[in-house]
Amino acid sequence: GAMPNERAKRVLLAKPRGYCAGVDRAVETVEKALELYGPPVYVRKQIVHNIHVVRTLEQGGAIFVDENDEVPAGSIVVFSAHGVAPEVHRQAEQRDLKAIDATCPLVTKVHAEARRFAADDYDILLIGHEGHEEVIGTTGEAPDHITLVDGVDDVANVKVRNPEKVVWLSQTTLSVDETMETVAALSDRFPSLQAPPSDDICYATQNRQQVVKEIAAECDVVIVVGSTNSSNSVRLVEVALQAGARAGHLVDYAHEIEDAWLADASTVGVTSGASVPEELVQGVLDHLAGHGFTDLTEITSVKEKLTFSLPRELVLDMRAAE
Ligand code: SF4
Repeated sequence: GAMPNERAKRVLLAKPRGYCAGVDRAVETVEKALELYGPPVYVRKQIVHNIHVVRTLEQGGAIFVDENDEVPAGSIVVFSAHGVAPEVHRQAEQRDLKAIDATCPLVTKVHAEARRFAADDYDILLIGHEGHEEVIGTTGEAPDHITLVDGVDDVANVKVRNPEKVVWLSQTTLSVDETMETVAALSDRFPSLQAPPSDDICYATQNRQQVVKEIAAECDVVIVVGSTNSSNSVRLVEVALQAGARAGHLVDYAHEIEDAWLADASTVGVTSGASVPEELVQGVLDHLAGHGFTDLTEITSVKEKLTFSLPRELVLDMRAAE
């Protein structure tokens, strides 16, 4: 039990955290599609990389598949926020699927950059994580022109056709600092290396990393709510540790928090990845309060106002049904 004059243990809650504009739109796309067309609505890949979101949508009648060939001909299929290669759209047409594309507009922007630089015959060095869906989708825009660079250790192996005409692009959900290290190493090898016309690492990734950096040094442990396949969530743990948090853990749900993590802690930092519903953060805060962490302070770095409208193909059907 707490000593009478022992101070309440602290929680520093990061803001912004949780849902970004692209995730909000993607989840709403599936919800609205279920309302409009009725279940089942097929979704190619996890709509966003969060197990709770996927389970909840499954209960509402969404069926998650890996590829278009698992979708019955003539059905509705939603493409996930991470984006798809043009080939995936072609397959959907061939199977007579009605595709609703929930690709985040900020991923679509990177696709457009890839197409443009490929058309100008650049070698494109795409910084990202091998096997991540977004990287697979972006690479599919110009497979002959794009080389994946998976971190600074990969730089020495990169081969280009013309070192005078090289540009780097990136996955939207990387660590800002690590990416800059990789870019510096690439620039050493290719002094003419060009940068993307605008930031590929998206605003939400940057903002969530920024605020976790601000609180990390004060925290005995930082708890990041997010799934293990969520790139931006995993990066938040790494960023917290690099910025001076003494420990950092990723959890999907509050019950995964181990008592040992809290045993000697007086300040716990809390944040969540861009695909994480706020109710899961609330669960973590309740759990912490139950362990004496009742002094809650929200630390805000920047205010986010961005929103995206729903996919046009869905909006048109919604209007037609009114
Ligand atoms: Fe879009 Fe960034 Fe959210 Fe990904 S993390 S869906 S790129 S806003």
